[in-house]
Amino acid sequence: MPNFQTVRGMRDLIGKEAQTFIRIITKAQETASLFGFKEVFTPHVEHLELLSAKTGDEICQRMFVFEDLGKRQVALRPEFTASIARLVTSTLRTEPKPLKLFSVGTVYRYDEPQRGRYREFWQSNFELIGADKPEADTELILLTNKLMQTLGLQGYAFKIGHIGIIKEILSQDDVDEKTQNAILQRMDKKEYESALKLVTSEKCRGTLQSLIDLKGNNWRDTIEQINVIVSDYEKAKIALENLTEILTIVTSSAEISLTVEPAFARGLEYYTGMIFEVYIPQLEIALGGGGRYDRLVEAFGGESTFAVGCAHGIDRIAIALQTQNVAHMPKAGLDVVVIPITESVKVDALKIAQMLRDRGVSTGFELLGRKMGKALEAADKHDFDYAVIVGERELCMGSIVIKDLKKREQTTVLITELFEKLGVK
Ligand code: AMP
Repeated sequence: MPNFQTVRGMRDLIGKEAQTFIRIITKAQETASLFGFKEVFTPHVEHLELLSAKTGDEICQRMFVFEDLGKRQVALRPEFTASIARLVTSTLRTEPKPLKLFSVGTVYRYDEPQRGRYREFWQSNFELIGADKPEADTELILLTNKLMQTLGLQGYAFKIGHIGIIKEILSQDDVDEKTQNAILQRMDKKEYESALKLVTSEKCRGTLQSLIDLKGNNWRDTIEQINVIVSDYEKAKIALENLTEILTIVTSSAEISLTVEPAFARGLEYYTGMIFEVYIPQLEIALGGGGRYDRLVEAFGGESTFAVGCAHGIDRIAIALQTQNVAHMPKAGLDVVVIPITESVKVDALKIAQMLRDRGVSTGFELLGRKMGKALEAADKHDFDYAVIVGERELCMGSIVIKDLKKREQTTVLITELFEKLGVK
């Protein structure tokens, strides 16, 4: 038997779920526009060389890689950032900075499928290139906040950290970059014990352990405590100052719920500064996340460029909306179906359907030539609000019959009064 199911980890989106995705994508596009991000479309397939240039080792191992018919080694994009870096170092190289780019679409990772984890999933992605100021970091948190808020999500909260704090502690204790990345990856998975095993200096292990143990809701208190823990680490203190400045700006510009977690790391190893994720209380999976990665563009052969970005998982946001019962919005307009009673009035009925569509009314037409009873039964199942019934007798008098399918009432009205009767402006 041929296998005609979707490939493992990939899904069809239909009906209300598809509608929810469209709503999230539209809100992400509106948010991009509000914050001055320009939308760009890049290919789903890129050279393997590009995608593996600096993406975290872990993601590299989970890419869908193949050889095309021209024997090129290519892969499905596991994220947008590499494609954006390609653009920034080529076509958009001379564009005035900062560059603010937005993309939305599917990305592909060979993850182990489970609820909220797919192999094909949708992201909305924001990249802000060429700005080193904390205001730039702030924009990414604020736009994520705005997106969550406009989608109607309740009780969402940000988890914020700064990769510079951990990296500078490790650097001061001479831990090489490769080991640093291995440690961060383990910390990302909350495998703290195994992460600390890679640290030889006892003092450094103790410092990291104190950061791991630190929990608290008031971010100012947490910052104070981190300050004490890293008092011997000059560069880590600079990273902490940067984080403090970002948080001060964020909290004074918006109502926002956040916690600071100094031992928080993110899977992608290219981060250099502030990192964040956003959650709702009912779900343990992050709805989105991002951070600063000032050395990324350089890794793609470009000049040293400041960069900060974030991505939101649309599939997970859809789950969050469902969990909080805000996934389905009431219908915006009417759904009308036009039914001709006989062949002879088909053309007139089609004209009426066209008239409705020209006025912006979503209009269906009885396409199967069913008898009135069956056509109305089908209209009910399709959840139409009104049926416009076109019959020869009424048509002679310039009229049609409108049937309100919810109230089960019908009236004969002049065609000239159709819009008024339907309440169409
Ligand atoms: P990342 O690109 O890893 O920073 O992820 C950004 C966001 O994409 C995460 O916060 C998730 O919401 C979403 N995401 C990551 N991996 C998956 C996956 N396998 N399936 C669905 N969503 C994902």
